[in-house]
Amino acid sequence: MIVLVLNCGSSTIKFQLINTDDEKMRTNQDKTLVKGVIERIGSESVITIKSKQSVKKTTQPVRTHAKALDVILSFINEEESGQKIDAVGHRVVHGGEKFSSSVLIDEHVIKGISDCIDLAPLHNPANISGIRASQEVLGQNIPQVAVFDTSFHTTMPESAFLYALPYQYYRRYKLRRYGFHGTSHRYISFRYKQIKKIKMDKMKIITLHLGNGCSACAIENGVSIDTSMGMTPLEGLVMGTRSGDIDPAIIEFLHLKEGLNSEEIFSILNKQSGLLGLSGITNDMKDLVDEVREYKDRRANLAIEIFTQRVKKYIAAYLARMNGADAIIMAGGIAENSPYIRKRICENMDFFGITIDDSLNEKTVGTEGIISKKGSSLPVYVIPTNEELLIARDTVRAVNKQ
Ligand code: ADP
Repeated sequence: MIVLVLNCGSSTIKFQLINTDDEKMRTNQDKTLVKGVIERIGSESVITIKSKQSVKKTTQPVRTHAKALDVILSFINEEESGQKIDAVGHRVVHGGEKFSSSVLIDEHVIKGISDCIDLAPLHNPANISGIRASQEVLGQNIPQVAVFDTSFHTTMPESAFLYALPYQYYRRYKLRRYGFHGTSHRYISFRYKQIKKIKMDKMKIITLHLGNGCSACAIENGVSIDTSMGMTPLEGLVMGTRSGDIDPAIIEFLHLKEGLNSEEIFSILNKQSGLLGLSGITNDMKDLVDEVREYKDRRANLAIEIFTQRVKKYIAAYLARMNGADAIIMAGGIAENSPYIRKRICENMDFFGITIDDSLNEKTVGTEGIISKKGSSLPVYVIPTNEELLIARDTVRAVNKQ
């Protein structure tokens, strides 16, 4: 089955065309045929398309998501000479308490996604635009499937998902922790299960997704029992531009001292904090590591120190939560590519049974592998994530179930 995977933001569409079916899933023979991104939808858009043969970058005015999809389809046509699309899988950010698994999209599902707009005002409207655009451009006969960032975490118990706030706010507004990056945590844990040849319900692991956005997840008996992101993706670990955990009293303090309103403070916490805010240089971890290595930049080093300490703190919290774990699995652009950051996260953790093998750590870049010393009681693995592949596989399963 040829699945078009779409990740629609307000002015961006990332896509992948993936060939997969039950047999290919079983044997890991699924293939990405073309992938790309259209940025700055609404003005002069930048279009990047990567296929086996080439990388093409062009610009052209693209006014709407539907026009962007037209552009994507004509590129696919060119690259894959008329490849027919059998189904579309959409990444949807917030499924609230409604969606605990991936679903075939109909008007009822779109209403459900729209009901979660209060919880994800920046993301869910863009996801709905992407769904509407696909229906318009591809027609009603091509099945579309929604795969939610939040679904994997719907197994969290009340004790993990409730904030210590007056209970009526949960009752009234469903104000609670939801967690995100679910597709990534689910993919990594599934790959770990395959590699170790163990049963999903026997798994007790901690997964770390460290990219531009970062989150940790405690997985017990194969399901998420706690995760670091909360009602929105702002809570938890330090991220590229997001603060992660802060004392909520800071919001009132900034309002009084700087005269900022809630929208401005929210924007600072989401867009000007994290690695960027601490270093004053960049949100890009690779550049920060270079700054530390080449110029011994103090603030870059401090940003990395706070980033890695926060990760340690969550690892320790989840070890306490689950009374230990069988493994720690790292994924995301930072964890997959930086032995330096992995080492800083794992150093001085021998109390927990974590000891890194420097040579394994150095040579595991962009690939799967174990990076801890043989005999470590808490082994550490790197498993590159592949959210698009999981979306394509879920799409096939949902279509076949129909
Ligand atoms: P996203 O969350 O947007 O999918 P990625 O998972 O691609 O992002 O992660 C992007 C982050 O990974 C950036 O901070 C980038 O600097 C970092 N990164 C990529 N390669 C390296 C590297 N070699 N060393 C350190 N950080 C890296």
